[in-house]
Amino acid sequence: MDESSKVILTVACTGAWPQKSDTPYVPLSPQEEADEIVRCGDAGASIAHIHVRDDAFKASMDFDKFAETVRLVRARSNIVLNLTTSGGLGLSDEVRMKPFQELRPEMASFDAGTMNWAHTTIFENSPRFLEKLANSMSECNVKPEFEIFDPGMIYNVLHYMKKGLITGRPHFQFVLGAPGGMTAEVKNMMFLLDICKDNLGTNFTWSALGIGRGHLPIIYAALAMGGHVRVGMEDNIFYRKGQLAKSNVEFVDRVKRTVAEIDRTVATPDETRKILGLKNVPATAA
Ligand code: ZN
Repeated sequence: MDESSKVILTVACTGAWPQKSDTPYVPLSPQEEADEIVRCGDAGASIAHIHVRDDAFKASMDFDKFAETVRLVRARSNIVLNLTTSGGLGLSDEVRMKPFQELRPEMASFDAGTMNWAHTTIFENSPRFLEKLANSMSECNVKPEFEIFDPGMIYNVLHYMKKGLITGRPHFQFVLGAPGGMTAEVKNMMFLLDICKDNLGTNFTWSALGIGRGHLPIIYAALAMGGHVRVGMEDNIFYRKGQLAKSNVEFVDRVKRTVAEIDRTVATPDETRKILGLKNVPATAA
């Protein structure tokens, strides 16, 4: 496999914020989300990034909802699973880590620093939590997806690599356009990429996403630069200006068409497992 020709396509179908009043098409219950993930996997998505909601459909780290969603997807799809560790604010370290510790997905998100969130509150990822998270993910063979909202977060990852808490080739997800973080502009993505290259050479993988109106410029620039990408209603509910996406599959299909035009192809889940060196491969995978 020529790694450079492969695009790992993550779909984040649900996220923490969209409600049915924002878009009636966002999947919220475990059954709705699992059905949507299976459809995205059938359409060719490589990874599903999973959040869950409570019974009132608010952001949540409810373990039972994660367990049900994972069970429903695993029964019907080979897609790689990536569970969030940041499904709510102000939660204990243990509540944030339990889903990946118990369910052993192949990946989980690792938000590599604290930031002001949406000009309203603090998205807390303290040194204490990040050290615990790094140790626990390593023990559980869960690959961290380092979510990077600003440059200091890359240096945090480099620090933990130097201390030996993080080993292997890191995988970064540049999250651009969250209020409180870097804006969704291509020059910002290039800057983050340069920091990674300066410090790691070619020994890293990277993906990018743009939130809201920055979605398309970031996706297209990342694809052109040889990166991987994330799409989905967690980041953006509009297919184009003024037109809601009726399904996350629409975003998956658009990336598939685009990469075909630039002589790349979307990585299958099994190709993704090889590229990222994933360990908790489910028994159902080839
Ligand atoms: Zn997320």
